Parts: sequence; structure tokens; C-alpha cells
Amino acid sequence: MPELHYTTPDHAGVTQGPLLHEGKAKKVFATNRDDLVWIHFKDDATAFNGVKRANIGDKGAVNARISAHLLRHMETAAGVPSHMVAELSERDHLCKKVDIIPVEVVVRNVAAGSLCRRLGIEQGRVLPRPLVEFFYKSDELNDPLINDENALMFGWAEAWELAYLRAAALKVNEALVAFWDELDVTLVDYKLEFGRWHGNQILLADEITPDGSRLWEKGTQKSLDKDVFRKDIGDLGDTYRALFARVFGHDFAERAGGAAV
Ligand code: 5GP
Repeated sequence: MPELHYTTPDHAGVTQGPLLHEGKAKKVFATNRDDLVWIHFKDDATAFNGVKRANIGDKGAVNARISAHLLRHMETAAGVPSHMVAELSERDHLCKKVDIIPVEVVVRNVAAGSLCRRLGIEQGRVLPRPLVEFFYKSDELNDPLINDENALMFGWAEAWELAYLRAAALKVNEALVAFWDELDVTLVDYKLEFGRWHGNQILLADEITPDGSRLWEKGTQKSLDKDVFRKDIGDLGDTYRALFARVFGHDFAERAGGAAV
């Protein structure tokens, strides 16, 4: 499978500006263009809303490359546009500066994580159809589960936006399940974020990475994602480098460049 590199004329002459925001796994910088941001993927791993932390070599590069690849694939295979403009290096994305909708969208194909804790469903139960859940994006509140009425009442999203999030999430899910399936990986669940662009357009934003997904190797059911770190069941760096090799068809150490492309 070829590695995808974004090279659009759009990013010629873009330079990095001041830090706008530092999150748990990424830094967002301004650029010399009002409409673009520069997103840097860090090697920091956190879990349980930042309570558990570590620095994992290569994590930022693996996440950035996989996310660019998957966001691009969602545009072509699912018809869902994203904020990606270009890969500036193996850890840096140039993205459209969207206004993030504070409604996180979790899609589940197999029961795991908070679904099992909340509803007493046994882990591993294959769901009869994809389940889309909304969570309010708030570190202080630990991203609580919400319903449409909550989102509408408190102005977090409009009705058409919620309808778009649900429809786009299902389209993404179909393409993403097929993508991982081909690599002998079960896509258990994952989180998506979306942003407003020019007021009336919604773009898939943030990232699609093993940090925000549950990926189980078919047959062994081995976790290939951040659960390895959350549950202390292996070496996250090795797990991520192996996932990179599975996605791109060659070892992480043999990747092209590593510098700006
Ligand atoms: P759960 O609700 O079971 O904790 O998470 C469901 C899925 O969404 C998991 O794949 C998890 O990695 C992802 N997810 C939910 N919230 C977050 C978050 O705040 N950060 C990240 N990285 N992933 C999240």
C-alpha cells in the first residue's frame, strides 16, 4: 500500500507562527495564513484524561502518518471532506483552521470500554449495526455522554449539524471498517471530531489514529492501539511501529524521508 503524501500548491510559502494551543498529544500553531493551522504530533502518551503519562518514541510520527493516510482515504473512499491540506513533515500537518464542534463522535462496531461499563454489555459482543454516540468535549467534565437534546439546548451544535455528524460518521465507518478488515484488524470503536469551516461547511478534523481507536488483531484479539498503554499490556512504541508496518507495508525504520516532503 503506497504512503500518501499531501503535496498541494496550497501550502507553498506557509510558515509556522506562534503556539495557539497545546493538547495532550498535539500542538497547534498559527501560520502566516489566517485560514490554516500547523499541527505538530507529540510523542507524549496520556490516558484517563491525563492522569497517566509517558513519552513514547516514534508515537507522534506513527500517529501523524496514519492519520494523514486515513483522513485522505476518508475523502476518497467515504466522500467525507477533512481539514487536511498537506503533510509538512512526518510529524506536522497543515490543516484548515476550523472551529471544532464540541461534540465528540464515537462509533462502535464491537462492545468495549465505556459502553461495557455503562450498560453492563460484555466486552467483545459484535453489535448488530454501528452505534454512534455523542460526548460533550470537556476535559473538566471528562467528556460526558450526551444526547441530541443536550447538544441543541446548550448550543453545542445545531440540528442539521448533528444529522451531518451522524451521517458522515456512518460513511466513515463503512470505509474504515473495510480498510482495517483488509489488514486483518477489527475496528472495535473510535472517536471522531468535526469542525465548522466558513460557517456552513463541516469538515472531519483532529485525527484518526490508534490513540483514538480500538483495533484488535483478528484471531488473537490482541490490542494494536492505546489500550496497550492504558492497560499496561505491552510496549506501545513497538505496537505502533508494527501497526505502521501493517498499514504501509514496510518497517517504520525504512520509511521514506522522515523529514519534510
Ligand atoms: P470509550 O468511550 O469506550 O472510552 O472510547 C471509545 C473510543 O473512542 C475508544 O477507541 C477511545 O480511544 C476513543 N476516545 C473516546 N474519547 C477519547 C478521547 O478523549 N481521546 C482519545 N484519544 N480517544 C478517545
